[in-house]
This record gives sequence, C-alpha cells and structure tokens, in this order.
Amino acid sequence: MMFEIVKGLGTTLKHMFEEPVTIQYPEVKRPVRERFKGRHELKRYDNGLEKCIGCALCAAACPADAIFVEAAENTDDIRYSPGERYARVYEINMLRCIFCGFCEDACPTEAIVLESSYELSYVDRESAIFTKDKLIVPVPADGQPTPQKVEPGKFDRAVPEMKDPT
Ligand code: SF4
Ligand code: SF4
Repeated sequence: MMFEIVKGLGTTLKHMFEEPVTIQYPEVKRPVRERFKGRHELKRYDNGLEKCIGCALCAAACPADAIFVEAAENTDDIRYSPGERYARVYEINMLRCIFCGFCEDACPTEAIVLESSYELSYVDRESAIFTKDKLIVPVPADGQPTPQKVEPGKFDRAVPEMKDPT
C-alpha cells in the first residue's frame, strides 16, 4: 500500500516539473498554420485605394449565400477603387460562412482574403453580419483614405498599373 502511494506521489512530482501542455488562451495565442482560413479582410493597395471593384464574383461563388455586394460608380473626384466601380455595400453573414475560401479564389483582384484571426463571437444575429467598415483593412502608411480625388483618367483599369499591385 505504502509503495503505491509513494509511486503515485513520484509520478505527480515528475509531471510538476514538465512543460505544461495547456495553452493559456487568451493570454497566449497559438500561431495558426499558413493555410488556415480565418476571418475575412478586404484589402487595399499601397496608395489606399480599395482592391474590391464590386463585381460580386465572390457572392456568386459562395455556396452558403453569405456575401452581399452592392456596387456603385467611381468618379475621379470620388474614387474608392481603380476602374469603374467599387463596393458601396459589402457584407458577409458569418453565421452562414463555412470558411471554404471560394470567395477568395473567385476574386479577380485579390481583394477578399481569409486571414488568420479566429476570434469570432457575436451576441446576436445582427452583429454576425460583418459590414465593409469591419472587413476593410486600415489605410497603409503611405496611402490616403477613400474616397480619393485623383487626376482624371489615371485609374481606368480594375487593376491599376503599379509597381507591385498585389
Ligand atoms: S469562405 Fe466560403 S462560405 Fe464563407 S463567405 Fe467565402 S465563399 Fe462564402
Ligand atoms: S471582393 Fe473581389 S470578387 Fe468580391 S466583389 Fe470585390 S472584387 Fe469582386
């Protein structure tokens, strides 16, 4: 009997000095794999213009019908994206999304990207609808916020001629 108790205490002592296997989330966040598909982001070019051109191909490709896009026309005085149109409304219903990444694959401008954030929680159905304001990334350091006033005819293609437009 005594032997079993001592043996048991020995096992306890041995494990007390080992590295813990539990991750202390949320203080410690585990890095995700490179191919992880998390919360979406709408990207911008370095000059601040939005990559999304409101074509709605992502919405068409979405098997869960989770994306709603409403496009509007750009002008050179009020320009959100290169080319003719931008997404005036862009919404993703995260309650429907199955994180398949089809939207990302369908996007011709690489505007919508499933990034690494997995911290998604909602208190009601309405807050599970992520609007454009929530999805779009901040303006880069050398860029300007949208809408921008640009010189006439400078951005007449959906993907601008820039050094590295991706
Ligand atoms: S990840 Fe899939 S389900 Fe989610 S919005 Fe994109 S296409 Fe739709
Ligand atoms: S995210 Fe891409 S596919 Fe979707 S509307 Fe914008 S440009 Fe088109």
